[in-house]
Amino acid sequence: MAMCSSFCPQIPIHLKRRRFPTKPFLSVCTKVFSSQTSNATSRVIEHPAHVGFLGLGIMGSPMAQNLIKAGWDITVWNRTKSKCDPLISLGAKYKSSPEEVAASCDVTFAMLADPESAVEVACGKHGAANGMSPGKGYVDVSTVDDVTAKLISRHIRATGALYLEAPVSGSKKPAEDGQLIFLTAGDKPLYETVAPLLDIMGKSRFYLGDVGNGAAMKLVVNMIMGSMMASFSEGLLLGQKVGLDPGVLVEVVSQGAISAPMFLTKGPSMVQAMYPTAFPLKHQQKDLRLALGLAESVSQSTPIAAAANELYKVAKSQGLSDEDFSAVIEALKTD
Ligand code: NAP
Repeated sequence: MAMCSSFCPQIPIHLKRRRFPTKPFLSVCTKVFSSQTSNATSRVIEHPAHVGFLGLGIMGSPMAQNLIKAGWDITVWNRTKSKCDPLISLGAKYKSSPEEVAASCDVTFAMLADPESAVEVACGKHGAANGMSPGKGYVDVSTVDDVTAKLISRHIRATGALYLEAPVSGSKKPAEDGQLIFLTAGDKPLYETVAPLLDIMGKSRFYLGDVGNGAAMKLVVNMIMGSMMASFSEGLLLGQKVGLDPGVLVEVVSQGAISAPMFLTKGPSMVQAMYPTAFPLKHQQKDLRLALGLAESVSQSTPIAAAANELYKVAKSQGLSDEDFSAVIEALKTD
């Protein structure tokens, strides 16, 4: 697997903004690049003047907002139109379909819920692919599986446009603070073109080679995270039942070798049985399901993740889909 990475220093979002123009680039330079993985030679916009953003949920909204605040010319679309309104009031343009956004922009980002919605928005009727053409680029930052990423990439590249998958590590707060980690793969010229945009929305970016590697990296990371949260939930409840102070338990965990920011961030609210949604539980279960599929495709045994997945399924059946994924602890409360 070809792998390289580039890191950016952690720059607060208010300082990042100063690195970019308050007005979008007016002159568009084009350069001929040979796409690594498509047969066609494709022209890509070197300095995209017009940037599209499809999907304005928990993650997409703050990501698009950071681009607007950095001075980029952003055109938005979301299935539920009302979610576009706060961004329009910040200066974003609006188009009524993914196709129209893609047709009017040099580069279009998409942040959708799952494989089905990512395919629908990219390849469906009035999907982004219909508005794509040589010189344009499509960057899918949704978490999907490698098969879906490859399917979308084929549709986009068939138009002569370039494709980059770029799922993100990091949740609502890192999205707001421009501190996401991008796990990219696909057409390297497009990666280079959108690097300044990724650097506004994120703190680091990895280029991982062929399409599918970004999805695989993201799913492995979230498989580990889902299992960690399930195990942490068991520990919190066991500790409470044997009379330990859960606040002290969180503190002890956070000072030792198994410390993780997630435990300190989520632990105190979990003890209060409060789950303010940063990463919806339904998306964590989706990622476990997709990771298990990935593991099956290469005959890798993943019993811990399989058990964790069952727990998230129980939590979903209890009506906790839209709660934060830390609400999985509720599925373990038997009395
Ligand atoms: P979200 O708040 O549930 O937003 C999902 C977005 O997808 C919304 O814009 C939604 O539109 C749209 N959508 C859903 N089904 C659709 C369909 N059939 N057609 C068109 N649009 C559709 O999710 P999120 O938390 O922003 O996450 C988005 C992606 O990022 C997911 O793949 C998730 O796994 C991943 N991710 C999330 C986090 C996190 O902490 N939240 C972190 C890393 C990665 P509506 O507004 O109309 O429903």
